Amino acid sequence: MEYDVLIIGGGPVGNYLASLLAGEFKVALVEKKGSFGGKACTGIIGAENYRRFGLPEDAVLNELRGAVFYSRIQSFEVERKSPQAYLVDRKTLEKSLAERAVKKGVDYYMGTTFVGFKNGRAVLQRFGERIELGAGFYIGADGLNSTVAKAIGAETKAEFLSGYEVEVVGNFRRDFVEVWVNRDLNPEFFFWVAPVREDLARVGTFGSLRAIYRFLRLKMLRPASVVEFKAGSVGFGRRKPWVRGNVALIGDAALQIKPTTAGGIVYGMYCAHALRKALLNGRLEEYERECSFVKKGISFGLRFRKLFLGMDQDTIERVFEILGSEEAREVIESQADFDDHVKTAKAILKRPKLLAGLIRVSPRIIRTLL
Ligand SMILES: Cc1cc2nc3c(=O)[nH]c(=O)nc-3n(C[C@H](O)[C@H](O)[C@H](O)COP(=O)(O)OP(=O)(O)OC[C@H]3O[C@@H](n4cnc5c(N)ncnc54)[C@H](O)[C@@H]3O)c2cc1C
Repeated sequence: MEYDVLIIGGGPVGNYLASLLAGEFKVALVEKKGSFGGKACTGIIGAENYRRFGLPEDAVLNELRGAVFYSRIQSFEVERKSPQAYLVDRKTLEKSLAERAVKKGVDYYMGTTFVGFKNGRAVLQRFGERIELGAGFYIGADGLNSTVAKAIGAETKAEFLSGYEVEVVGNFRRDFVEVWVNRDLNPEFFFWVAPVREDLARVGTFGSLRAIYRFLRLKMLRPASVVEFKAGSVGFGRRKPWVRGNVALIGDAALQIKPTTAGGIVYGMYCAHALRKALLNGRLEEYERECSFVKKGISFGLRFRKLFLGMDQDTIERVFEILGSEEAREVIESQADFDDHVKTAKAILKRPKLLAGLIRVSPRIIRTLL
């Protein structure tokens, strides 16, 4: 065997895992692209976890400390003194993590595509040539359409959605993100407006391309002021198994994505720590159990998504009335956790008045959230 661990895929999660395992294992990473970045991704990452994971500061483009939530007919605002989330540049994030990993001894094979396994070795395509690499463990960090997942026969019944994101020139409040929940405009998902600067924002949604242009018009942003357009996909659900023999899946390859917001970077990095622990113990089967926080988050998110898809806009307006009340905003401002939506929901439901109000809207909300 040439390596202890071969990581397939150099997105944020693969590169972060490489930097974590470096020094403890002989690690290699293969990435099919010739350079990093380029993926459709707004790059919003919870500030607390960003610091906890020691992610590179040079990737941070903007700091977000508040949010304005809009429905069809009302809005409310929550804010904190310190940044709750960062808006990052994906290319810098990935490249900085890769540089960190290389400095710690990881071998990188850029422009190298994993094709499959043959006799326990990874078959790779590199500049028109086929090469093979052997490792004790193989990790599929190769994204949503993971070839590694296919190679180990992992299956899913997840909901896959196309996502569209534009960078548009306009006037924005620099430290506030906007969230628009209007099922008349887009029945599939909310819209987000995430400022990069006062004069530039990333605007996106999942569902249809038409929806995003409808939204730009509503926001009085000119389609001709769009300076970048990207499309991508997410999957909400479970892909099983995460481990087969000496192969494990991580990040989007394992569908470690929040069905509430479509954020996947923090969940993938959280699971990188779980995977490192399992590898150090030489017991890959412990990996899934160690990711229980992520698994709970996905289960909650799937229930939340079902609830959202079952609600009409009038019901959403009634929920907004409750969440926009002074008491709810106070709970959100003091207790909401950017990456732990279960904790946030529990904090809201602990308040008798808010709980009673939501029961009046629909008892299903409570059944779903608890
Ligand atoms: C429109 C949109 C907006 C989003 N916004 C956010 C956000 O704000 N915050 C957030 O946390 N998440 C967001 N996400 C989700 C986020 O992009 C993913 O969860 C994240 O990219 C997962 O990282 P990853 O490393 O697991 O996979 P990826 O980023 O997909 O990286 C996989 C890597 O593997 C490589 N690869 C693929 N196949 C092979 C192969 N056969 N051989 C070798 N290499 C291979 C790819 O080239 C790629 O570099 C968004 C997604 C979309 C679509």
